[in-house]
Amino acid sequence: MTQDEFHAQLRKQFGVRVPCSAEFIDIPANLEQVVADFFERLSVLDPNATLRVLRIWIDSKLRIAVDGGLAGLDDVIHDAEDAAHKILEAARFPLHPDSDWHEAMVARYGHAVPSLNRLGFRRGLQTIVAEMYEFLFFHGLLDAVGILGIVTRSAAFVVIDARYKPGIYEDDRISLDFEFEKTQERLSESCEHCGRGGAIIAKAGLESRLADPDVEFGDRLLCMECYESWRFHD
Ligand SMILES: [Zn+2]
Repeated sequence: MTQDEFHAQLRKQFGVRVPCSAEFIDIPANLEQVVADFFERLSVLDPNATLRVLRIWIDSKLRIAVDGGLAGLDDVIHDAEDAAHKILEAARFPLHPDSDWHEAMVARYGHAVPSLNRLGFRRGLQTIVAEMYEFLFFHGLLDAVGILGIVTRSAAFVVIDARYKPGIYEDDRISLDFEFEKTQERLSESCEHCGRGGAIIAKAGLESRLADPDVEFGDRLLCMECYESWRFHD
């Protein structure tokens, strides 16, 4: 939906509560549902439309300016900001690696790197995966194995799907077993946002998933620092 279309729809549904001009609702498309839900709750809280929303915009997080006050208004605003934060953060840390990184990996290791849709891990783990490939490449082991996918199944549980080629040398098999086991362990113990040691499993809220089913959500293993910045305080 364009900004104008979205604004027109809100005006039609929620009347004068909505700012009169489309430019005062300046948000990305993935937050439209959050803003629509906000007006829905606002209209329940304030059926006579005594409050006026002046402006809704993004300033590192979702901001909502309202003229007037009412018991419960802060909660409604806070919930919308919270839902928006989760969507924005999920978009910042999707459950797949960066496409530039993937291109560089394919350029270096060719078909040994699975397609992007078979790599389901967050970008904090890219360095560990790249180190594994470099090890296999350096020791001439990439020809002995087909790596079909690397996927974070759930927080702190990453699986490397690899099939050994028929006729593989016993020595190569032992080296590969060891390297995959070690890498799988590192991937499963590292912060999914930055790659440092993971400390805590962060829970993703279900209510945001309902707001936008296209957003990739999920619990994730994070270090303390990333956990603090990912969580929404205040
Ligand atoms: Zn981290």
